[in-house]
Amino acid sequence: MTFPDLTKFYIDGAWVEPAKTATFALIDPATEEEFGQLAIGSAEDVDRAVRAAHRALPAFRDSDPAERVALLRRALKLYEERSESFAEAMRQEMGSPITFSRQGQVPRGPLHINALLEVMETFAFEKDRGTTRLRHEAVGVCGLITPWNWPINQVVVKVAPALAAGCTMVLKPSEFSATSALLFAQVLHDAGVPAGVFNLVNGDGPNVGAAIASHPLVDMVSFTGSTGAGIRVAEAAAPTVKRVAQELGGKLANILLEDADFATAVPKGVAACFTNSGQSCSIPTRMIVPRSRLDEVVGLAVARAQQIRLGPTTDPKTDLGPLVNRAQFDRVRRLIQSGIDEGATLCCGGPNRPEGLERGFYVRPTIFTGVTPEMTIAREEIFGPVLSILSYEDEDEAVALANSSDYGLAAYVQSASQERAQAVARRLVGGQVHINYPPADFHAPFGGFRQSGNGREWGEAGLHEYLEVKAMIGYRPATAQQTPEQKKIR
Ligand code: NAD
Repeated sequence: MTFPDLTKFYIDGAWVEPAKTATFALIDPATEEEFGQLAIGSAEDVDRAVRAAHRALPAFRDSDPAERVALLRRALKLYEERSESFAEAMRQEMGSPITFSRQGQVPRGPLHINALLEVMETFAFEKDRGTTRLRHEAVGVCGLITPWNWPINQVVVKVAPALAAGCTMVLKPSEFSATSALLFAQVLHDAGVPAGVFNLVNGDGPNVGAAIASHPLVDMVSFTGSTGAGIRVAEAAAPTVKRVAQELGGKLANILLEDADFATAVPKGVAACFTNSGQSCSIPTRMIVPRSRLDEVVGLAVARAQQIRLGPTTDPKTDLGPLVNRAQFDRVRRLIQSGIDEGATLCCGGPNRPEGLERGFYVRPTIFTGVTPEMTIAREEIFGPVLSILSYEDEDEAVALANSSDYGLAAYVQSASQERAQAVARRLVGGQVHINYPPADFHAPFGGFRQSGNGREWGEAGLHEYLEVKAMIGYRPATAQQTPEQKKIR
């Protein structure tokens, strides 16, 4: 594996020393052992990076979209060549089991870039509506702040469309997933990203993240993370009226209608809930089932959970790895205890460590039944392998339960009838509704209603996030020669 230099930041086309010497210990969550000291930045480093991005903006914003597409293609190729280093980095930094790292985490980069490249094939940066020309221009300098749970996915869904749009940027990945982000910076460097277009500063939220969100030369902040931090980012961005995109938490409902094939729908729902050790904003953590079928559901769910293999992240057979860090480990176990204390019935798992795994931040796959919407485990995003089963009498109650959340990121519905599933899907609050566990659609807009955020990522919607629209009214086709600018229009 290529191991990145943890001591430097990528600013203005070069690896540079941070202004100060603070560091952060990187801990492998499977072993609790330190594997490096990450340089942590300050407002000074952010200022340097933002100024580099600001200087690079005019040329990059006006560059030919075909050049930006070519840059993304080169980056994609290099990323694919180095995929094993990315798999290993994510395994070590956030405890993703190696097989899931290779098959789940790593492919997300190419899947998003390829979807974006398809969009770019036909995307019109300028188009006419009568005598008005609509021109889509890069928003400007972007501050990109990402979480650790899907490290490369989160970085790529921001960096790739920002580059495609002609924006320049400063990325601050989570301090818990900095190694894969550093590898990605090297990919962009080797792909020939122009100096200043992409910059990376490592650091924590309150210092580095906040400095990005409040910097007057940053035009837009795109944030993915917890709702609390998202609110602070929006507050910091408000005085300079930046565009703010927020991809925040989720508490997804999975409604099983009476006519669904339970023998398939229940195990699939369990597997989806425990994906990435439950550390995903868009997994179905609330299974909502007919009251008359509760016993059957619990039996199927527990049987599926018992097949899940916990183990070392280096073992290719491991399904479920540890949680990312001690804070999450303690928090998730506290939330499991709250489920027990508030009267839910524990079907499997629980707050104790799994047998045989005395080190590492491992939590057993945990299923509760008898969960009511007031309980903490039904309301809070747990970000661990915990499934809550709730029950309903009729479809109206199922929909009401599903929608009884402050979040609205996405939802799931299962039914043998497309018609019934679609009718329920229309009533559910969420930026995406998955009908009968479809394969992922990397063109489908991804983002939330309610407190799950503002804005949409992925595919064409994701590109639009990084574009301002300018209407040139009274626009007539030029009779004279085309300007160089017009020739660039695709
Ligand atoms: P977090 O909010 O603690 O951190 C996310 C990022 O924000 C990190 O880079 C962090 O350093 C930074 N940050 C923290 N406080 C900040 C502040 N005051 N100002 C600026 N930046 C700040 O979240 P996390 O623990 O890294 O990730 C888990 C959370 O992310 C969960 O709540 C999850 O639902 C959410 N998430 C949402 C999506 C989505 O697309 N909706 C995707 C993945 C994760």
